[in-house]
Amino acid sequence: MGKHRAAQIEISRVRAYDPPVGMNRREVLTGLGAAAVGGLGIISAETVYAAAHSTDPLQFYGGFASAIRPDRSPPSVPRSAVLWSGPTDKRAVALTFDDGPMPDWTPRVLGILARHDVPATFFLKGLNVQRYGALHLDSAGTHELGNHTWDHPDLARLDYHECADQLERTSAVIAQVYGTRPTLFRPPYGHLAGSSLLAAAEHRLTTVLWSAQMTESVFEAEPARIVESVRSAAHPGSIILGHDAGADNRLVSIDHLDAIISRLKADGFAFTTVSQLCGLR
Ligand SMILES: [Zn+2]
Repeated sequence: MGKHRAAQIEISRVRAYDPPVGMNRREVLTGLGAAAVGGLGIISAETVYAAAHSTDPLQFYGGFASAIRPDRSPPSVPRSAVLWSGPTDKRAVALTFDDGPMPDWTPRVLGILARHDVPATFFLKGLNVQRYGALHLDSAGTHELGNHTWDHPDLARLDYHECADQLERTSAVIAQVYGTRPTLFRPPYGHLAGSSLLAAAEHRLTTVLWSAQMTESVFEAEPARIVESVRSAAHPGSIILGHDAGADNRLVSIDHLDAIISRLKADGFAFTTVSQLCGLR
């Protein structure tokens, strides 16, 4: 079933949908609106609610939920890892930056990291590597470059072949531009389904989430507070999410990255790449 056909069916379900007993339509919308806008873009809260509460069976094997190959053949690997953080016995953290490379943004981040002699891990969009890949040509050997899909879809809604295509195209352009295939993958929005886990396994990618983040949008009014926010969120083994592309409010973290690193260093934290932090190589 194509995506558009599936969307049509979902919308027709929504029209027939009634809120649960004891909950009016406004409460449903209020509760789920933020999640729907943040995770799924234009899909309405009602659609999300209807899909989540549908009693229709999910598609066997070929849909987004199954981690079994559509042709039911065995996976080519026996296992695949998902990481949120590293070991907690060392006072070390890994800074990660998603969605780049992007002119203006990525060079600022690289400059600050270089001044502090700190490595980081960048999860790259394939489309941006194709356009702006030269921004990371000097990163190899210092920083780690991971796969963040080709154009940032919600993988939890894509089938295996669509997920595999997103990962393969991105790993291929990273290998072409930087000479090495990535070993790490971060799913956009932290959204995963069976199909995306299987695709990551088949592409020999370790799936990397995060355990702390630079919550840029929270500190637009008082941007300097992001320093203390990251400091209190960071623990031994933390994988810290940041961004080097996107909406202007994300510049809060880049404007204060120098102070964030200085503060964490003063607290005794060392900085490593995700692979080093987690002992992957
Ligand atoms: Zn992203």
